[in-house]
Amino acid sequence: MKSLWNDTEAATFGTDPLGQRVYTSRLLGRNPDLVLHGGGNTSVKVEEKDFFGEPVNLCYVKGSGWDLATIERAGFAPVRMSALLKMAELDSMTDSDMVLQQRVAMTNPNAPAASIEAILHAILPFKFVDHSHANAISALTCAKDGEARVKEVFGKRVLVLPYVMPGFVLAKQVYEAMKKTDLRKEGIEGIVLLKHGLFTFADDAKASYEKHIELVTVAEEWLAKKSGSYKPATAEANVDLKELAALRRAVSKARGVPQIAKLNSTAEAVGYSNTSGVADYGTRGPLTPDHSIRTKRAPGYIAGDDIDGSVAKFADDYKAYFERHKSEGHTMLDPAPRFVIWPGRGLVSFGDTLKDAKIVADISEATHKTVALAEAAGQWEPLSEKDIFEIEYWELEQAKLRKGPARKVHQGKVALVTGCAAGIGFAIAESLAEQGAQVVGLDIDKDIPQIMAKIGAVGIVVNLTEDQPVQDAIDFTVREYGGIDIVVSNAGIFPKNDNLDAMAQSDWDRTISINLTSHQKLMNKVIPFVKLGIDASIIFVGSRNFKAPGPGASAYSCSKAALTQLCRVAALELAPHKVRVNIVHPDAVFDTKLWTPEALAKSAARYNMTVEEYKTKNLMKVEIKSKDIGNMVAAMASPLFAKVTGAQIPVDGGNDRVI
Ligand SMILES: [Zn+2]
Repeated sequence: MKSLWNDTEAATFGTDPLGQRVYTSRLLGRNPDLVLHGGGNTSVKVEEKDFFGEPVNLCYVKGSGWDLATIERAGFAPVRMSALLKMAELDSMTDSDMVLQQRVAMTNPNAPAASIEAILHAILPFKFVDHSHANAISALTCAKDGEARVKEVFGKRVLVLPYVMPGFVLAKQVYEAMKKTDLRKEGIEGIVLLKHGLFTFADDAKASYEKHIELVTVAEEWLAKKSGSYKPATAEANVDLKELAALRRAVSKARGVPQIAKLNSTAEAVGYSNTSGVADYGTRGPLTPDHSIRTKRAPGYIAGDDIDGSVAKFADDYKAYFERHKSEGHTMLDPAPRFVIWPGRGLVSFGDTLKDAKIVADISEATHKTVALAEAAGQWEPLSEKDIFEIEYWELEQAKLRKGPARKVHQGKVALVTGCAAGIGFAIAESLAEQGAQVVGLDIDKDIPQIMAKIGAVGIVVNLTEDQPVQDAIDFTVREYGGIDIVVSNAGIFPKNDNLDAMAQSDWDRTISINLTSHQKLMNKVIPFVKLGIDASIIFVGSRNFKAPGPGASAYSCSKAALTQLCRVAALELAPHKVRVNIVHPDAVFDTKLWTPEALAKSAARYNMTVEEYKTKNLMKVEIKSKDIGNMVAAMASPLFAKVTGAQIPVDGGNDRVI
């Protein structure tokens, strides 16, 4: 492992201690072998003047919710040293009280909550303290003879402490150890916490950081030697996308809410999933207690083709684990795996959002690589079940769950929307994305990727009348997110008005091809996945024209009438699969690219109306906007419509020809 320190870059963070602290914290955060997603913590001790000009000794310690890779000055909590040292002297303290007292002792009440390892940072008699959960330290210490290994590898260079629960108990353990050990006098360079991580310290930011790199490198070199000729196994993935969708559905069911699934089918992940014995060592436990908050104690394992049975087994085992270790006041968390080992396919990670699933995917990637290496270097023996239970059901974690953010209506769902570069289609994609869905938008417009990116969605350029590109877009969606729950079949054109005796055959053919046949083709390909969706629903975008046609619009009206019939048949066919199929009939939506100001003025003049009157030409005299349709479609895809299928919903402000 190499030091990433760079003098020029370091100077841009400021030469004051906090500036240097920000810089080397980021260096730790930049290396995924040291720190992943909010893991690890750092601190710096400084003397400042308080508001009244009195000198005050502070420990600036990483605030919770901040990531070392991107931390800023504002990410550090300024806590009075005197309070932290006083807490260390207490015989006992609950972690909730500790968090509260740390907040009380801050000189800035608006700063983030200080890390739960703040007391420990304060106790160590050095200006800078760096703490990580380095993979190599896990691989080294998660073994039966972990302590002996540390002594063999580091000799007297480090102090080694047995695993105890992070928080006050750990702070107290270090406090007691410091009474007997003079780190400076004895020339101790770091503290190894077995099955947890590493602390290094110095009075200089660079020295503390580089000591960290140096000690981790020593551990890495020992592991390489000990594991001898070990090379990670590799294999080609063989993924059936319908099986992936079925797996996502089973896990979502166990979790009680839809999940995004992130497949990792790199050659190394597949090789790992195929290794004999992986069902055993791959499910023994996490690299460090911190990870278990995201991943639970262990991943699931998919045995053979039995996806549902394997997920159910994980849930049963989880319930038994809860029963074995629970005590009063514990509420069982959901029994769904956060990632699974799937022989022949690799690893699959799950999360409420794509971001959550990616975090789990990063942790599972580090886990499989480190576990395989550790097993090769001797028997991998992570933290005990009981220790992990205490972390998973820690009072602080349970409190966090109780006040977790409210879920969005479509969170964890995957939506496919066609014809969404502008107008109604764009508004639909936007409403679904705003309400938490992972949206994939298909359109023939070559700018669709950029247009969808604006709303956090993915856009794919597709001609919906062509078969293979549509299939590819569907496959992409399932491969990236695990399935498809919502399909909004919206794409359509409005050809130029011509009476039947004047119409070009090509206008008719093109309209039917896009407004009707492309929808039928999409259904043909997407329904197998929608059947495996969660609270699945299909929504077509029709038109008021279907019930109230106008002269000169035969192709458009007929295509929308047939589309409505397609919707009705789909509703009949899919009801046994609990898939809802409904259609929305908008009318007079003028904020679309079909309507230029000139076209609007021309139409208004034809009715002898002002543009304003024309726009609100309905019984309720209200203007219908794209967003009204977007929000209606999002509602139709939501649990509000859980028991509605085959419905035709007008969004037209009331029309006497339709009512
Ligand atoms: Zn830690």
